[in-house]
Amino acid sequence: MNAPIKNSIAALTPELTEWRRDFHQNPELLYECDRTASKVAERLRAFGFDEVHEGIGKTGVIGLLHGASGPAMHADKRVLLRADMDALPILEETGAGHASQNPGVMHACGHDGHTTLLLGAAKHLAEARDFDGTLVFCFQPAEEGGAGAQAMIEDGLFERFPVKGVYGLHNWPSLPIGQFAVARGPAMASADRLEIIVQGRGGHGAMPHLARDPIVAAAEIVMSLQTIVSRVLDPLEPAVVSITSIHAGQAFNVIPDTVEMRGTFRTLSDETAEKIKLEIRRICEGVAAANDMTVEIRPSPTPAYPTTVNHPKETDIAIAAMRAVVGAENVIDNIKPVMGAEDFAFMLKRVPGAYIFMGNGDSAPVHHPAYDFNDEAIPYGVSYWSELARRVLPAD
Ligand SMILES: [Zn+2]
Ligand SMILES: [Zn+2]
Repeated sequence: MNAPIKNSIAALTPELTEWRRDFHQNPELLYECDRTASKVAERLRAFGFDEVHEGIGKTGVIGLLHGASGPAMHADKRVLLRADMDALPILEETGAGHASQNPGVMHACGHDGHTTLLLGAAKHLAEARDFDGTLVFCFQPAEEGGAGAQAMIEDGLFERFPVKGVYGLHNWPSLPIGQFAVARGPAMASADRLEIIVQGRGGHGAMPHLARDPIVAAAEIVMSLQTIVSRVLDPLEPAVVSITSIHAGQAFNVIPDTVEMRGTFRTLSDETAEKIKLEIRRICEGVAAANDMTVEIRPSPTPAYPTTVNHPKETDIAIAAMRAVVGAENVIDNIKPVMGAEDFAFMLKRVPGAYIFMGNGDSAPVHHPAYDFNDEAIPYGVSYWSELARRVLPAD
């Protein structure tokens, strides 16, 4: 079953490595992926793609590639393959020759690699066309907190390009090069932001009886929020509630009017996320009332990321494709979920699919200033996408 890297894909690797390093040198944040998106669109056209659409969800790109027997109009014969294009606001410390030329912006999550892998598969499949149906290649902006996938969906992604399945990939530091992994069911956590403003009444630090001290109430809220995970949720239901920022007051002898707190909560099911949200409100309002003050819980400025949940049938197809490329011994087919979040979750909520991890070897972790996508992984990623395409839209 093991069908190692095809010669044609190995031959593409030097050129793809150059493209990857060019993306790495020119990182772009959130929706500002103009340069990356136009490079992607230009290359898809050069590969002979049947249709290329730009500006979906601001800077998203869609390329359509029809198989040997021509275009498929019905979703049954159409599948979406997705890569993300955006970078992070991090000052790079790799010291690499291809380091970012845009100081303070860095491809620290390997989306330069993801874009390159999908372009490699696009080139390979445009030559081979050994599948039956239409592949929808999706390059999205703003994965890092901007909900770019949701922006593309709201821009009519699935109405304009209906598909029966969606597939995504992320590189994974600490997983060796030439290995793959996937979680069955929940793969990554939901992520929601918290902003809590406790409104008391300021006064002299020596006369607390003439004030209503919001710092004491805020401290009580912080401690009580920790009981959501330990006392309210099922112990078998993973969840995190973290207050990560507290701001109040200026002087040592003044009780401030307000306390502002920020934080995040994450879990592996959207029902639990909803429950946590209700509990947070109950605790904040209850503690504020007990202290004779008010509290405001502000909605997140960006959409909360739902849980990334893999669908069973599509996960099996992805596993078969990974095994075909690297052998069953190099595929972990039931890894534990990760508490990080991923906006491919928005696509998986609309269409069944699978999100897999590909080994990035012994690199720094993602979002670290010394992280770099490992170019040795390129032939494995391109081979996975190509093998997957043939399996989701078989030619016979
Ligand atoms: Zn990231
Ligand atoms: Zn990422």
